[in-house]
Amino acid sequence: MNKSILITGGAGFIGSHVIQLFVEKYPAYTIVNLDALTYAGNLENLKAVEGASNYIFEKADIQDADALTAIFEKHNITDLIHLAAESHVDRSITDPLSFVKTNVFGTVNLLNAAKEFWKENLSEHLFYHVSTDEVYGSLHDGGFFLETTAYDPQSPYSASKASSDHFVRAYANTYKMKTVVSNCSNNYGPNHFPEKLIPLCIHNIKNNKPLPVYGKGENVRDWLFVKDHARAIDMVFHHGKEGETYNIGGFNEWKNIDIVKLLCAKMDGKLGREAGTSEKLITYVKDRAGHDLRYAIDATKIQQELGWEPSLQFEEGIEITIDWYLNNQEWLDHVTSGAYQEYYSELYGKR
Ligand code: NAD
Repeated sequence: MNKSILITGGAGFIGSHVIQLFVEKYPAYTIVNLDALTYAGNLENLKAVEGASNYIFEKADIQDADALTAIFEKHNITDLIHLAAESHVDRSITDPLSFVKTNVFGTVNLLNAAKEFWKENLSEHLFYHVSTDEVYGSLHDGGFFLETTAYDPQSPYSASKASSDHFVRAYANTYKMKTVVSNCSNNYGPNHFPEKLIPLCIHNIKNNKPLPVYGKGENVRDWLFVKDHARAIDMVFHHGKEGETYNIGGFNEWKNIDIVKLLCAKMDGKLGREAGTSEKLITYVKDRAGHDLRYAIDATKIQQELGWEPSLQFEEGIEITIDWYLNNQEWLDHVTSGAYQEYYSELYGKR
């Protein structure tokens, strides 16, 4: 069947890689990218697919129910992959309501639009919600997050994503919509907005600016290359079982401070600096309020049931990522001008 897939948040970090993969791999599908182009959305991320005959961009806000209905009708949408979200934990601490509006209210709007448009044959159309491992809370005593781990969100961001996951499952149960949810660990790679740890450090090391590290840098995250997440989304979309949840992760845990030191060492080499130069930029800052200690995903289910596994070792992915940022200065200049400067100095003070 020729599908017309609505992908929300396609101008963001992960969405742009998902769009590129689907547009290039599935020429028979029509890929409709719906994005409000917030500070995190950037059409420059999609240069590779601009002009492709199976790609369409629609600027719209998922808070706008009428706009969603119109887009479903205009493009005869058959399936949906939902990534649009407010995604930055620090922003959720200063402005929780905007996370409720987009992540909760916006998701329910999309569910309603899909339910209404597909009402004649709900079971033939898939609503796929892309979510985060942060919904499971924080691990303190070892172990891993499983698909069956109880939700225990600790930040306004994760609370909003947990809520949206619950709504998706509630719509499956109540209205018999065909849904699937995946919960992924931290992504890194090209197109990542430089408010997040890895691109922020690359940008600041290059410009000899302080590297803000929360607390003692002891927090542990599992990291996955963004294109491997996009591949996993492709597999879950095509082969995931209705109503199921899939955890996606890299089995690749790092303390924040160790990632920062790795980036410093690699960048010293690439920039021709004496070893140890960039580490001097590390600046410990007051810990994030309610900072979760450790996230770690058990991705056994998606590996065993769908045959997915990460294609890249972390060090390879980090090399690709650093090189991408060093070779895409214009992209960085655009996203770090204006509003980004104001946001950055509010969070860390003027640098
Ligand atoms: P991002 O912030 O880079 O991109 C979000 C995109 O959504 C942007 O293009 C933005 O313009 C768009 N958007 C925001 N509000 C919107 C609205 N109201 N209407 C329409 N579009 C809107 O985020 P990301 O890192 O690419 O994350 C994408 C999804 O994956 C999110 O749902 C996030 O929770 C989830 N996720 C992210 C990670 C990660 O490490 N980045 C890990 C697991 C899951």
